[in-house]
Amino acid sequence: MSDAPTAAQSCPKPLSPGLYIVATPIGNLGDITLRAIEMLRACDAVACEDTRVTGRLLKHLGISRPLWRYDDHAEPRDRERLVESMRTRAVALVSDAGTPLVSDPGYRLVNAVRAEGLPVTVVPGPCAAIAGLAVSGLPNDRFLFAGFLPVRDKARTDMLAGLAGIEATLVFYETAPRLLKSLAAIAETMPYREVAVARELTKLHEECRRSLPAGLIAWYEAHPPKGEIVLLVGPPEDHGHEEVDADALLREALATLKPSQAAAQVARNTGIDRRELYARAMELQRE
Ligand code: SAM
Repeated sequence: MSDAPTAAQSCPKPLSPGLYIVATPIGNLGDITLRAIEMLRACDAVACEDTRVTGRLLKHLGISRPLWRYDDHAEPRDRERLVESMRTRAVALVSDAGTPLVSDPGYRLVNAVRAEGLPVTVVPGPCAAIAGLAVSGLPNDRFLFAGFLPVRDKARTDMLAGLAGIEATLVFYETAPRLLKSLAAIAETMPYREVAVARELTKLHEECRRSLPAGLIAWYEAHPPKGEIVLLVGPPEDHGHEEVDADALLREALATLKPSQAAAQVARNTGIDRRELYARAMELQRE
């Protein structure tokens, strides 16, 4: 009995017209799915961010398809033309790496295709945010993906302060040159939260380091990071309140803030109930 052909070997069946959102590897080419190969082989054209990057992937797979450059900054007329083509053609959408639309182009295109009532099909696969969440071991029952942090210092700190109260693991995309600045902003806004840096996932130098922000700052100051990074901040309750010296934090905060403000700051940084902290702050002030 011969083995059933794999999707990569079989003759491609024609695809019905429409848009196919196809995830591609985030480093290790072995992570491409059988279905992704099948779709890329059978589609009429591939819409991609960078034709050189996608050209290399298709060459590796032994596939030759017309490549159309697309990103969400495309002129509306160009997008309309692309959508029109999907009335008669199957168009695969890929990004340079991972899942299209996740901090990558595609949102406007998918909306435009859906608005025309044309079929949209997803071919799921690698996504750095999900891979980072899995490898970090941080709580994953609730997580919030927040894309890239703003580049400007104040905007970055403001955004982190705004997210600090959310009871979920926070997931960010990060670049190596900005990692230390982001860790410093996390140390300022959430100093007692467990943080993970998941770097170069699925590649040769894959690593995941987990510590409080101050520990990661010390490590990466001594070992400047390279490559691609997912930065994760554990939820407020994850650090274990019993390990936090709330009195010490409150005393420090009370040196410059009113009890209500001190309680709010410590609550934001630790996840401990604000009313509980306020009552304790009043006691400390009376001592
Ligand atoms: N759409 C992609 C996905 O599904 O993961 C993400 C695209 S976004 C433009 C690129 C960012 O994803 C990088 O700056 C980095 O933060 C993260 N990333 C991509 N590949 C990665 C990898 N192998 N290891 C860690 N982070 C990665």
